[in-house]
Amino acid sequence: MRYAAQKGTRDILPSEIHNWQIAEKVFADVCHSFGYEEIRIPTFEQTDLFQRGVGDTTDVVTKEMYTFEDKGGRSITLRPEGTAGVVRSFIENGMTSLPSPVRMFYNITAFRYEKMQKGRMREFHQFGLESFGAAGPDIDAEIISVVDVFFKKMGLKNIALHINSIGCPNCRGEYNRLLKDYFRPHVSEMCEDCQARFEKNPLRMIDCKVDGGKDLVKNAPRLIDHLCDDCRAHFEGLKTRLEAIGISYTIDPNIVRGLDYYTRTVFEFVSENVGTQGTICGGGRYDGLVEDCGGAATPGIGFAMGVERLLLETEAQNALKEKPSYVKIYIASMSEAAKIEALKICYSLRLAGIGCETDMAGRSFKAQMKYAGKQGIPFLAVIGDDELANGEVKVKNMADGSETTVKLDGIGDFLAGK
Ligand code: ATP
Ligand code: MG
Repeated sequence: MRYAAQKGTRDILPSEIHNWQIAEKVFADVCHSFGYEEIRIPTFEQTDLFQRGVGDTTDVVTKEMYTFEDKGGRSITLRPEGTAGVVRSFIENGMTSLPSPVRMFYNITAFRYEKMQKGRMREFHQFGLESFGAAGPDIDAEIISVVDVFFKKMGLKNIALHINSIGCPNCRGEYNRLLKDYFRPHVSEMCEDCQARFEKNPLRMIDCKVDGGKDLVKNAPRLIDHLCDDCRAHFEGLKTRLEAIGISYTIDPNIVRGLDYYTRTVFEFVSENVGTQGTICGGGRYDGLVEDCGGAATPGIGFAMGVERLLLETEAQNALKEKPSYVKIYIASMSEAAKIEALKICYSLRLAGIGCETDMAGRSFKAQMKYAGKQGIPFLAVIGDDELANGEVKVKNMADGSETTVKLDGIGDFLAGK
């Protein structure tokens, strides 16, 4: 029997893991620099949380969830995104009473039953953050800045920021009526999903993957032209702040986002390199979500970034960093006694935080040298009878061939900082 990874899942191998670790570190560092702290939430939640939190007219909930009954008869769902879980935790752990804004970031796997394509997996990774308690546009500009700074620290350029406002329940009620009047004569020509959306959530029709490209949808009334005064002022406030900071944006009235909970600001960072899966990061404000999930009314805003797509983009822009060499020195040995000495030296180097290797495979001296070269280990020391007798060894720098003689117990000092 040969097993294979499940469709839509993949192994992240040691040869590429550094790309992930670097991105994770940069994201955490940038979040910390804005005052965000990490939260780790469970991989599964009760299904109802996502139905309510993500919205039961969304593709994510109606088509893509990994839902199953556990042995106790509960309906469980593998998280398709992070926001609902973070909101649940925020309420459950009484974080409403903390000084606002309560800022949290996360680095999670997420699960969606989707057709696999480049940048579209069934198990994928998201970096994201949520901020609770701040209602004004300052925090909208702040979280967009987090993404902007993160991209800069990753060495990425030209990822376009698209922003829009989808209003609040007040302006949306009026707009939904307008939208229904507009679509009513054409509903029967639209896809099956849109026919259902027409009744339940007409705004979703703007986001349709089937009909979205058609003139009918492109020419539909735009929510941005029908915002109430408060929503308009909020959006203007965001624009002013982005301009002041120097983050350029395009207003894209067609962004409505795939999740039901958004209000007012929605945004996406889009690349031209990842093909049809061009949206690297999406986010927005969700002022009603905490209340919908059973908490006290609390404004909130967040984003999620697809890490697979982020790394595809980083590769396409030639911005991947080199793999760091964790192992600094190879200590080769020419005899059994030398090998025992090499083991002792390696132990003390590791205690001093210096990566090193010595032979573990019973290789001949020649084969040890070949192995060290193949691994690209930057320094080499060879221990034989002379070295044991003198208590000194030559440390060779493999990059330039230079050699330095050091005491057997002085290798750590010599390599420190190299
Ligand atoms: P799309 O329109 O591409 O399906 P979405 O609107 O469903 O994206 P969100 O729910 O906003 O995506 O998730 C935030 C980010 O997570 C996306 O912008 C994308 O980068 C990433 N993402 C979403 N679904 C997947 C997936 N199946 N595989 C890999 N990354 C994904
Ligand atoms: Mg999707």
